[in-house]
Amino acid sequence: METKNKDILIIGAGLAGIEASLLCARAGRKVYLLEKEPYFGGSAIKSEEVFPLMECATCMLAPKQSDVLENKNIELLTLSELQEVQGEAGNFTARIKKQARYVSLENCIGCGACFEPCPVEIDNNFEEGLSKRKAIYIACAGALPNAPAIDMNYCLRKKGEDCQACKQSCMFDAILYDDKDREITVNVGAIIVATGFKLGDASQYTNYGYKKFKNVLSAFEFERLRASNGPTTGIIQTKDGSPPDSIALIHCVGRKEKGYCSQVCCLYLTKFAHYAFDKIPGVKVYQFYKELSIPGKENEHFYKEIQKKGINSIRAENIEIIEADSGLQINYQNGNNKNGSIAVDMVVLAPPIEPHPETRNIARILNIELDQFGFLKTQPFNPVESNRAGIYIAGCAREPNFMQEAVVQAQDAAGQALNITED
Ligand SMILES: Cc1cc2nc3c(=O)[nH]c(=O)nc-3n(C[C@H](O)[C@H](O)[C@H](O)COP(=O)(O)OP(=O)(O)OC[C@H]3O[C@@H](n4cnc5c(N)ncnc54)[C@H](O)[C@@H]3O)c2cc1C
Ligand code: SF4
Ligand code: SF4
Repeated sequence: METKNKDILIIGAGLAGIEASLLCARAGRKVYLLEKEPYFGGSAIKSEEVFPLMECATCMLAPKQSDVLENKNIELLTLSELQEVQGEAGNFTARIKKQARYVSLENCIGCGACFEPCPVEIDNNFEEGLSKRKAIYIACAGALPNAPAIDMNYCLRKKGEDCQACKQSCMFDAILYDDKDREITVNVGAIIVATGFKLGDASQYTNYGYKKFKNVLSAFEFERLRASNGPTTGIIQTKDGSPPDSIALIHCVGRKEKGYCSQVCCLYLTKFAHYAFDKIPGVKVYQFYKELSIPGKENEHFYKEIQKKGINSIRAENIEIIEADSGLQINYQNGNNKNGSIAVDMVVLAPPIEPHPETRNIARILNIELDQFGFLKTQPFNPVESNRAGIYIAGCAREPNFMQEAVVQAQDAAGQALNITED
């Protein structure tokens, strides 16, 4: 019988990918952990606090990230994407493209001295465009690995100019203009896909005025406003720089159009109410909902505790947001079909959790199935198993879920990957 390869490939280094990597590595296995971004941690690193216990997100995640960086069995490959996979369970061969970082991870100490002199300034995607970044950048303070990358889509050198500003400001000889993309081939016995999700584009749902009215925000924008390492160092403020007197939280944006509940929105909006009460004394918080989804005993307790702080809950349909003299006006129809209207300073929308844009490509490369919504399909009685032996799915790659669920699924996927690669 052919010997099984014991190494494991994990695609996506968010919470689920990190958890699966640590378990496999602690079981003595070599793990290749692939992340397409120059930093790892996924969406969880955007949050300041985590429901239901409102733990500090960094305190929860950073030790796991340090364990990944220190564990000799884990090879973290940032800026890396899967190109091709051949073989079968116990003996896969994967071809990976690793993009050049143009910064040496060995030499860089993460001092940030190279950012300021870079003449290029563009919107920082990680901060949802709420702040600017340079062509050489790190996503946010505290992002790991603590080393920037040069975004060659914007670097002046790509346009033929001989800019050397970042290199001249680096005292550690860490800038590598001649760094090259590389192709890496690895042999593994099992694969775990943990490619996560993307937040839907709220501007598709035109009645909410997203991108039209400046104080209508999407969920991650509000997370970054509250983040102490974010663009306002955690101060929740309107675009004119003043704290909002009133905030409306809008549930289920795009739910009807998508045809599924994104599961986490009711609870992260409850977390946002907590952020608002905590940071803005006397703020009025409204929540506009059609149906509430608060599963689980800890979540129910958390929801009730925040409600006690005085959220105005309005069951509403046919919401339309317009700009008025006083700020934003929310027109709606309440549960008794009566029209209502409320003026607020800020609106926060909860758009759908959608499959990561890479999901379809990953499914094609791995030859695994998608479900009707475009998430990776798993088996009814083995919810982390794909339709192909040796390939497992964990976290939001399979459906929208909470961090706790993502961790449990990652542990399950790791257990099954370890099991199938045992002789
Ligand atoms: C606004 C908001 C607030 C939230 N707050 C909470 C909370 O307080 N508590 C809670 O329990 N849950 C919360 N959640 C849910 C939580 O974010 C998810 O449960 C968790 O992030 C899922 O982790 P994941 O690893 O599955 O996915 P992700 O965090 O999306 O990570 C996936 C990773 O895979 C990478 N990737 C994608 N495609 C590829 C590819 N082709 N190759 C390589 N890498 C790839 C991505 O770059 C990313 O790093 C919140 C969600 C939102 C939207
Ligand atoms: S590349 Fe050089 S200047 Fe930039 S953060 Fe690293 S060590 Fe500091
Ligand atoms: S070489 Fe590129 S990244 Fe470096 S300072 Fe110039 S434009 Fe910025």
